[in-house]
Amino acid sequence: MKHRTVGKAIALSTLALLLLAPTSKCLAEQPSGKPIFKDHVLYAPAHFGNSYEVMGRYEMQQLIAEAKHWGFNRYADWFDTVDCSDPFAKHGHAHVQLAEALWARKLANFASAQALGLKCDLVITPNHVFIDQCLPGRLAKQGGRVFGQLVCPSVAEGRAMILKNYENMFADMARKGIRLSAICPCPYDYGGCLCDQCQPWIITFAKLCREIHAVCKKYHPDVKMHMIGWWWKVEEHEKFADWVDTNAPGWVERIYMHIPYGTTTVSSVRLPKGCERAAFVHIGYADQATPRDVYGHLGPVIAAVRLPKTVHSLADQHVSSVMAYSEGVFDDVNKSLLAGIGSGQFADADQVLRSYAKRYFLGDSDDSDDAAEWAKWLRQWGIPYQVNTVAAIEQWKSLAPAVMPDNWRLRQWNYKMRMLDLNQQIGTGKTWTPERLALVDRLWKTREQLHSRVWGLGPVRHVLNIRFTSFPWYGEWTRYQAATQESQLGSPASEKE
Ligand SMILES: [Zn+2]
Repeated sequence: MKHRTVGKAIALSTLALLLLAPTSKCLAEQPSGKPIFKDHVLYAPAHFGNSYEVMGRYEMQQLIAEAKHWGFNRYADWFDTVDCSDPFAKHGHAHVQLAEALWARKLANFASAQALGLKCDLVITPNHVFIDQCLPGRLAKQGGRVFGQLVCPSVAEGRAMILKNYENMFADMARKGIRLSAICPCPYDYGGCLCDQCQPWIITFAKLCREIHAVCKKYHPDVKMHMIGWWWKVEEHEKFADWVDTNAPGWVERIYMHIPYGTTTVSSVRLPKGCERAAFVHIGYADQATPRDVYGHLGPVIAAVRLPKTVHSLADQHVSSVMAYSEGVFDDVNKSLLAGIGSGQFADADQVLRSYAKRYFLGDSDDSDDAAEWAKWLRQWGIPYQVNTVAAIEQWKSLAPAVMPDNWRLRQWNYKMRMLDLNQQIGTGKTWTPERLALVDRLWKTREQLHSRVWGLGPVRHVLNIRFTSFPWYGEWTRYQAATQESQLGSPASEKE
């Protein structure tokens, strides 16, 4: 079944080392079995053309079931309304709109999560509305962190529209049998309004959320108010805490605090009285924040150092729960690391990765050393630009089946390895030889295959778009392409001459 050349050599040298020193297995910490956090929320927004947007009901059922296996006990999604017109307006056309299709898919995924015993949370961005609702006279004032399809909640028409949109969604969820456990509003991305009437925004946001929560309770009487601290400033937290303590004591039961890139702790800023300090954990990037390997631009990601460190740092800070921010299946290993350790099923990354390799690559009955070899192979991609890709390819040949099975978890790593190998061959610099340009073409072709053959993606938008890619030569390459195109077309002025 397998190539056994380099693999055997690695296995034998590893065996020699194991015989000379106390084995890591002997010294390995035993998992406590006791969850570190109360809740492990998988926040899987289906949008931007990511894999959650394209996966069907049965694929998502499997994905959620696997998330539960690793320790997740809540599921969250967000109706990102960019490019969508109001699906509840019933404009009278006979076809099914994008918004209707996306909403139906969200309801199906919530139903799957609920059937599996996970609680359902709806993430909301209150003043972000449908594109056909962005009409003059009610638009928000935008700039900086404030962008999107936004209306101003200080304009009566805008506020009424916001409340009606949520009423439509909450009522529809209830009609379809979905019981919301919490709503989780974010003030930014997409949200905010910079007009004078909306200042300070965080208080306008708080008041608006209070009204939305009241609407939600009509359909989901036990729904809790949890918030997401993404992009909040310290002074906004303080203003918010004061407002809640004065006007709505006990209302906000939990805030998932923002963890900035490259850090593993949350702010100790004051929260409303009785509010749990939880954490919003970005699992979509690798171990290092810079240079960044994020959102699947370089293929799947792994953070076998960062995520265990995050779990332990948050535990030290007495953080109650974690919400994993996930932009697609490319972070599948990170899901298992965060929930596997957070739920107390595994003591460390090595245990998680060996279990992952057995479950998905080898089969649970496998008793070879291959699970440990896979764990080592996966870990190295935490710093992808430093991987010796030639050695990684040789190790892959020894570990992976000779004929690649229909296994997306395995195949996505093969594509990453090949993309990073091509990246190393491309190197850096401003000179573009035909050979170097051909390597870039090969890399884009590989990326395209990963998108279409493994992840099934269509047009990807926003942060998933190629414009946000982080290959170090990308800027120089786009400038070269633009200059070449310009010289081939000639400028209109020179044509006139
Ligand atoms: Zn405003």
